[in-house]
Amino acid sequence: MDAADLDPSVWMKQGLLLLSRNTALRDLLEKAPVSRSVVTRFVAGDSTERAVEVVSELVASGRLATIDFLGEDTLDPAQATYTRDAYLTLLSALSDGGLTQGGQVEVSLKLSALGQALGADGEKMALDHAREICQAAANADTTVTLDMEDHTTTDSTLGILRELRQDWPWVGAVLQSYLYRTEQDCRDLAHEGSRVRLCKGTYKEPESVAYQDKAEVDKSFVRCLKVLMAGDGYPMVASHDPRLVEIAGVLAAANGRAPGSYEYQMLLGIRPDEQKRLAAQGERMRVYVPYGDEWYGYLMRRMAERPANLLFFLRSLATRG
Ligand SMILES: Cc1cc2nc3c(=O)[nH]c(=O)nc-3n(C[C@H](O)[C@H](O)[C@H](O)COP(=O)(O)OP(=O)(O)OC[C@H]3O[C@@H](n4cnc5c(N)ncnc54)[C@H](O)[C@@H]3O)c2cc1C
Repeated sequence: MDAADLDPSVWMKQGLLLLSRNTALRDLLEKAPVSRSVVTRFVAGDSTERAVEVVSELVASGRLATIDFLGEDTLDPAQATYTRDAYLTLLSALSDGGLTQGGQVEVSLKLSALGQALGADGEKMALDHAREICQAAANADTTVTLDMEDHTTTDSTLGILRELRQDWPWVGAVLQSYLYRTEQDCRDLAHEGSRVRLCKGTYKEPESVAYQDKAEVDKSFVRCLKVLMAGDGYPMVASHDPRLVEIAGVLAAANGRAPGSYEYQMLLGIRPDEQKRLAAQGERMRVYVPYGDEWYGYLMRRMAERPANLLFFLRSLATRG
């Protein structure tokens, strides 16, 4: 037994990550109107209109946004098509609202929501859907970033990224510092024009592929950030961690990067004052805005990351119930 086995916060995190895949609890919570009203701190709502309203407010406050239509692990081709169509509708609404020029509001995609896990043809289906979304983004003068999911999908996602970049070189990647492989992936992707979001990683991963100790994940984040900031690409620093945000600023300055040659990213509802502070300093600050019916897995991962988020959620349920 090691120290982590005795730490209740580790049990809670692991329990919540397991619950994030529990369909019975998901069905229960999704049907409860009270919990729906509580999620709005972290999720923009369930309609395209609401997502557009939320990002309009962010843009008015000097922040940028990337929008994620919630959903993942689709094993139904019709659902994958539905997700593609949701992105096409969203991009058209954003463009009509004048929100996409120069990439100020872009979209984030989960390939598993576009069919990546659907057997032998899954990758092709996800690639085809992603192509249509990239073309719509290009028409709207904005960009697309491919979210990274659990480690079993990393090679497939980076392969699809390479394909998409042949036509749309601005397609962004996400790398997770908890994976041992990521420092090398950063080296491979730190080239001219390459947009790379670096995050710690949010899935429960085995010791065979990922650091388990938070301090090791943070050290890896700094090593990866050094590679990205020293490279020729466009680093996107996705963390709420005050130390890492500070280190990113120091590394950007040390590498002679001007504001605008990299950006910070945070999630909707998390450290909004810090988001505004960075934007007011002239930094590019992008907020990740999830929306849609399928908020359950997303919300459970946020709870697992931070007990304070869980307490907020439970307190709201108790006071409204
Ligand atoms: C824009 C964006 C996109 C992402 N995309 C992906 C993806 O594609 N794939 C993936 O696996 N993961 C993704 N993630 C999630 C990411 O991997 C982490 O799980 C998540 O960001 C939490 O890590 P952290 O860096 O904020 O640090 P943590 O270790 O969770 O927190 C470090 C410190 O940050 C501060 N902090 C954190 N949360 C809060 C809070 N709620 N309120 C106040 N302070 C807080 C605290 O000081 C805390 O000690 C993304 C995250 C962001 C921000």
